[in-house]
Amino acid sequence: MARDKKLIVANWKMNFTVQEASLFIHKLSSEVKSHRDVEVVLAPTMLALQSLSLQVDRRQFKLASQNLYWRDHGAFTGEVSATQLRGIVDYAIIGHSERRHVFKENDKEIRNKVQAAVRNGIKPILCVGETARDRSEGETLDVIHDQLVGGLANVTSEELEDVVVAYEPVWAIGTGKNAAPLDAKKAASAIRRQVAHLYGKAAADNLRILYGGSVTADSALSYLKTEGIDGLLVGGASLSVPSFAAIAESAHKLEDE
Ligand code: PEP
Repeated sequence: MARDKKLIVANWKMNFTVQEASLFIHKLSSEVKSHRDVEVVLAPTMLALQSLSLQVDRRQFKLASQNLYWRDHGAFTGEVSATQLRGIVDYAIIGHSERRHVFKENDKEIRNKVQAAVRNGIKPILCVGETARDRSEGETLDVIHDQLVGGLANVTSEELEDVVVAYEPVWAIGTGKNAAPLDAKKAASAIRRQVAHLYGKAAADNLRILYGGSVTADSALSYLKTEGIDGLLVGGASLSVPSFAAIAESAHKLEDE
């Protein structure tokens, strides 16, 4: 069952040159052991994916793209498709809050991207989460509901087995204000309820749900111990070898307990 493994994802955003990314992975590889029950995934700049795919030992690290375009090929200047990423990455982050809010991606585009990923054998990590305003208006669960329904429309129950959902409250991303583990737990159980409603209880029980938003080496374990949370999506703290290695180590410790 997919949920037997903890999933730790580093989102490097628009940081590191290709050479820096390569050196980072070289250093990280001596700090992070391979573990049967932990998957460590790195999402570097798109530019580095091809060369890093030749560098990494996939038993130790897997690669993710931070985005992709939903058409497979054609006249779409500047875009990179899931077909082009096939074989290079195992995962793709889809609908990250920066894509939704800075680049104004809507649920229709996000759903097309989720589908393009699964069509091309790439596991989508669908990001959902409320803004500070949604939260203050008590709309957290409604927003999550709409983003889930929007993002998963047309995904079959068989395809859902490859989908990961990341709960990432927008107000917690890059702000140092992480959500309390209890809030992450409530969001995860709302996500599972909604998925049970759409796909049945077995599919919901099997779904991997990550928490993301200002996770640090100090807070990682508290989320990993939280019921319903199967891993972490880490931004800022994934940019330092010691802190990201410590986060991966938390997952190892937990699995060894
Ligand atoms: C992210 O960008 O997905 C993220 C969670 O960032 P940070 O850890 O910096 O909040």
